[in-house]
Amino acid sequence: MADQTSPLEHEIRRLIIAAGPMPVAQYMRLCLTHPQYGYYIARDPVGAAGDFITAPEISQMFGELIGIWMAAVWRQMGAPENVRVIELGPGRGTLMLDALRAARVVNGFLAAAVLHLVEISPALQAQQRQRFKQLDVPTTWHTTFEEVPPGPCLVIANEFIDVLPVHQAVKLPDGWHERVVCIASDGKLAFATASDALPFFDATLPRRLRGAAEGAIYEWRSDNIALELGRRLRGEGVALILDYGHVQRGLGDTLQAVAGHSYTDPLGAPGEADLTAHVDFDALAQSAESIGARIHGPISQRDFLLRLGIKQRAEALKARAPRDKAREIDLALARLTATGPQGMGELFKAMAIANPEVGALPAFERSSP
Ligand code: SAH
Repeated sequence: MADQTSPLEHEIRRLIIAAGPMPVAQYMRLCLTHPQYGYYIARDPVGAAGDFITAPEISQMFGELIGIWMAAVWRQMGAPENVRVIELGPGRGTLMLDALRAARVVNGFLAAAVLHLVEISPALQAQQRQRFKQLDVPTTWHTTFEEVPPGPCLVIANEFIDVLPVHQAVKLPDGWHERVVCIASDGKLAFATASDALPFFDATLPRRLRGAAEGAIYEWRSDNIALELGRRLRGEGVALILDYGHVQRGLGDTLQAVAGHSYTDPLGAPGEADLTAHVDFDALAQSAESIGARIHGPISQRDFLLRLGIKQRAEALKARAPRDKAREIDLALARLTATGPQGMGELFKAMAIANPEVGALPAFERSSP
């Protein structure tokens, strides 16, 4: 067995032997961002040749529409002379490159923009540095959001929050117990529950979830991302969050592992697969609101993109494209907006967190743009 385990699995086993079963959130954090062996640390997993594909990698239209959105919001903010354009988890950087190219049409926006890319992976940072050389927008890299200096800002996070570690609790007869990863009697990593119940846990849940049946699973994130957004945006700014998840807090295990474009066992090969869990938009909205930010949406990715004019953008691109390329554009449009299991239109949501003075935002109000 020892020969087949990866260095990260060794490390996880060592920690479990030393300190006891580890919470799912700690397991997820180690798998994704262990400083040496974490999934994101040494590789570029995004794209057809990687493990999964994201909206900006499907089509340039996605980033372009976000670019136009950002520039419109900047104007609504009173066109500040300097605006920090912050992207959380930029991956290959495609979204931002498409966005800034499209936003050129809005007078003054690019000259005002100062770019801050928050990226924990040295491998992806290196790739971003290479690709962003072509831009003449000042750019700084950070490994945490907290490092970005204050000031008027536009924050973009696409498929970022789903990779932040998630805690899970399981309902047992005597209350909710944290779900942990242990070493089972057959020597394999396995899920279990912590022996002590989480004190007062029921009281922290929405009322309708308190009587949950035995075996139910509840997930929550303990990062401070919503508070950090809320705090910054109270200054002056708007954040746009695009991700998959649920609009209303619910029960269920959404932890999933993906490698080579297929689902795999989350405990099977630590550090070799992407681990994600649905974003709880309800929880995110509540904590940002609790410190004074205003929430817009969430709306489906389909509505967001249609209201920003993705159909018209697709037509314009097709008019200039050869026939085989035109078909590709139609397929990309369908994938980004379709509501079925193959489409990203319904499961993915867009939500904005904003300073209350900024007012209605493009795409979030039914009548716009
Ligand atoms: N937004 C991109 C990539 C999504 S993948 C796209 O849509 O294609 C998640 C991204 O978040 C990767 O760039 C990953 O390296 C980064 N990341 C993961 N955990 C992070 C953390 N804790 N802090 C900062 N970046 C993180």
